[in-house]
Amino acid sequence: MGCPGAGKGTQSAKLQDTFHLKHISTGDVLRAEIASGSDLGKRIAGIIDKGNLVPDELMISMLENIVKATDKGIIFDGFPRTVAQAEALDAMMKRLERSITAVIMIDLPESEVVNRIASRRQCGKCGAILHITPGTPANKCPVCGGELYTRPDDTPERVKHRLEVYHTDTLPVKTYYQRSGSYVEINGDQTPEKVFEDIVNVLKKVK
Ligand code: AMP
Repeated sequence: MGCPGAGKGTQSAKLQDTFHLKHISTGDVLRAEIASGSDLGKRIAGIIDKGNLVPDELMISMLENIVKATDKGIIFDGFPRTVAQAEALDAMMKRLERSITAVIMIDLPESEVVNRIASRRQCGKCGAILHITPGTPANKCPVCGGELYTRPDDTPERVKHRLEVYHTDTLPVKTYYQRSGSYVEINGDQTPEKVFEDIVNVLKKVK
């Protein structure tokens, strides 16, 4: 968990590579549906580009098939984002005889969010997330050579709205997991390497 720009995608990718887990970013799942050009994708684009959340039922139904298709341990990145999604995830885990190991919140001061997102670029080919000097035009991905792009929901106005949505809809999820005892907070205002080290230390304790 974490607000926009907290580093969820970056840390999830590192965890996937290090521990051979399956990284499921619901944002990436939705962007892939948009890229497919389907009618559903067009509907989703209208929601995401405004910085709003995709309806819970749609998100959950899209996710269940992906979860069922893997036996690996899973990192959910950007899910659950509402209490209804957290409840649906609990029900899904029970049905699939799986359990939640830890809920990790990457905590970042809001003053940092806008700066970070202004410099964020994503690779359209491999999905790598990079930070470049603000004002620099999108260029080639250093990982795979793919085209880098700025996400349409990363403009300052959209980010402001996404933060409001985060406060209203997603922060209650924190209280939900605090009650279950599986919730841990990490300081996200550190280098990616240090954040990763802190996450690994949490995982060592709960394993
Ligand atoms: P992200 O890549 O995690 O920043 O997500 C980008 C956008 O996708 C969000 O601002 C939402 O519009 C949508 N989205 C991602 N995950 C979810 C989710 N779990 N529930 C609803 N909408 C989501």
